[in-house]
Amino acid sequence: MRVILLGPPGAGKSTQARALEALYGVSHISTGDMLRAEVALGTKLGREAAVLMQDGELVPDDTLNDMIARRLAAPASERGFVLDGFPRTLAQAVMLDALLAEAGQIVDAVIELRADEAALTARVDGRLACPRCTAVFNTRVLPPERVGHCDVCKSELVRRADDVPEAARVRLQAYNRQTAPLLPYYAAQYRLHMADALAAPDVVFESLRGLLETRCGFAPFDPSRSGNLPVC
Ligand code: AMP
Repeated sequence: MRVILLGPPGAGKSTQARALEALYGVSHISTGDMLRAEVALGTKLGREAAVLMQDGELVPDDTLNDMIARRLAAPASERGFVLDGFPRTLAQAVMLDALLAEAGQIVDAVIELRADEAALTARVDGRLACPRCTAVFNTRVLPPERVGHCDVCKSELVRRADDVPEAARVRLQAYNRQTAPLLPYYAAQYRLHMADALAAPDVVFESLRGLLETRCGFAPFDPSRSGNLPVC
């Protein structure tokens, strides 16, 4: 299964991608998490990316393309992947297609998590992230069981620096300007699907599951079975 989740900041891509990873045994690849790990490690790449990320701007395509090429070649991506936050520009999408084509592969499904901007602003405002295991919560739509603490690893949750209103506004602008053009690109090339991102997270997940299983023919991961996965 090779799936891309597209959608503006706050649409719930990470939450859904993590759930898809758990059910289908594919690799959740979040370029935002990969970049934040570089920032935390203080690498050259991380230092260069940090300022752009904090301001809500996109990191240059070349950096992302190299990162993604390495990650897709890793054994963890063998069963497939759910891309969260990549591609974000047309150049990244073209590079991804070329990379997959070299291996005789294509993107099976692109799913747009669609939401209106006013609701997204409120969502981003309530978002809390786990700095340790990268799980994402939301005080409004997905509150943690214990206030301020991660359900998965119990660490203290933090507000991302780029979730402050000004950076969130820039990120939404970047989405509309640089990422939204991917929708017609994928509509023309593949089967672009849409899900209502403003439903409750478990409702969104059921709609993604229905789409991937009914329309694309995927099945939950069963380690006792192997074989080719269908193309949607
Ligand atoms: P995210 O966690 O997906 O919201 O990403 C956080 C930030 O990382 C973005 O606002 C960008 O600065 C940077 N970033 C993540 N993915 C990409 C990408 N594919 N292209 C460029 N910048 C990215």
